[in-house]
Amino acid sequence: MKQQKPKGTQDILPGQSEKWQYVEAIARETFARYNYSEIRTPLFEHYEVFSRAVGDTSDIVTKEMYDFYDKGERHITLRPEGTAGVVRAYVENKLFAPEVQKPVKVFYMGSMFRYERPQAGRLREFHQLGVEAFGSANPATDVETMAMAYQFFQGLGLKDVRLTLNSLGNAESRARYRQALIDYLTPLKDQLSKDSQRRLAENPLRVLDSKEAEDKEAVAEAPSILDFLDEDSQSHFDAVRGMLESLEIPYVIDTNMVRGLDYYNHTIFEFITKANGSDLTICAGGRYDGLVEEFDGPATPGFGFGLGQERLLMILEAQGIELPVETGLDLYVAVLGDEVNLAALSLVQAVRHQGFKAERDVLGRKLKAQFKSADAFGAKVLITLGASEVETGQVTLKNNVSRAELTASLEEVKTNFASLLEQLA
Ligand code: ATP
Ligand code: MG
Repeated sequence: MKQQKPKGTQDILPGQSEKWQYVEAIARETFARYNYSEIRTPLFEHYEVFSRAVGDTSDIVTKEMYDFYDKGERHITLRPEGTAGVVRAYVENKLFAPEVQKPVKVFYMGSMFRYERPQAGRLREFHQLGVEAFGSANPATDVETMAMAYQFFQGLGLKDVRLTLNSLGNAESRARYRQALIDYLTPLKDQLSKDSQRRLAENPLRVLDSKEAEDKEAVAEAPSILDFLDEDSQSHFDAVRGMLESLEIPYVIDTNMVRGLDYYNHTIFEFITKANGSDLTICAGGRYDGLVEEFDGPATPGFGFGLGQERLLMILEAQGIELPVETGLDLYVAVLGDEVNLAALSLVQAVRHQGFKAERDVLGRKLKAQFKSADAFGAKVLITLGASEVETGQVTLKNNVSRAELTASLEEVKTNFASLLEQLA
């Protein structure tokens, strides 16, 4: 029976997976410098984890969740984002306890699932790299976390990444702004999209986030949240801006950027870049000081971001950035005749045990086809092994690019491949 992958999913094949590994290795290296450790949480959680954290009027929860009832009648959902599960784990495992050093800084990488209309950079199973820092209300935490994302992009050689910044303020500022926004939007209600008419009643800030043209037009002149920040919120935002400027990290302020998740307050940000002419958000995050309490943990400030891996790879590709992925073999052994099958096996094994990448023919093909394989695998060195080589114990090593040759004993290849490789280079 012929089968196809579900809509909105992708197979990541050899040739591509090396790029994923490279990006993830740079992420691990970068995050480690900022004292982050990895956390791995379940791919599925109880539905309430997300309805509570992300907000039960958000698009993610109302439209995009892969939720179902399991055989025990539990309401389960595949995770649509990373933060809620990490906060659940933070509280459940009592990482708030005084003996756990603060801030607690964790990163994750893995699949997220959203029922969306698939298109370029938008999938139903996609992958995020994300980080969360718990326990610091210091604006320096906001700034170092954004700086970390920025350093990560620079480490990959990504061009034209723009940091967009806004503040949602604290709960009081936000409530006052919410009312002002309702007052502004209500007379314009008929101009809004159906979804935004609903958002206006349920969660008016979301109207600002809409991608519909009619909504964008309606909110162009909307009041700015920055005019509603109280003193505390203003001084936090000013501190963040000042520190970004000190670190010479360029940013722009977009007062209409509010993010699609309910849990944010104070600083929110996106890193945006251009791909094929249009703007694409690759990384988004912010501060969420109330979220741990939402999960019945003690009041704990938090800051984090999520970064879309497919979009990142898409943009790297669009910008023509070649990732330095090492895929070539150190040695390919062409095998001449079935009687040297075992000798070829022990030869590649010995080379592999010395820490080198080695492959051999296992298909009993003609030499010409085997040499083609050596080229295709990017082998640095080629050895042809037949009955006479095994008998004399002498082989010829050939630099597969320069064609330079060297004769050595089989024993030396098996024990000191490094120096032979060097002599041939
Ligand atoms: P968008 O406005 O593009 O729908 P979002 O606000 O839903 O994004 P977040 O929930 O903040 O996105 O997720 C963080 C990042 O994850 C996004 O910036 C993007 O890079 C990536 N992302 C989100 N949804 C998808 C998806 N369906 N497919 C691929 N990547 C995604
Ligand atoms: Mg979305």
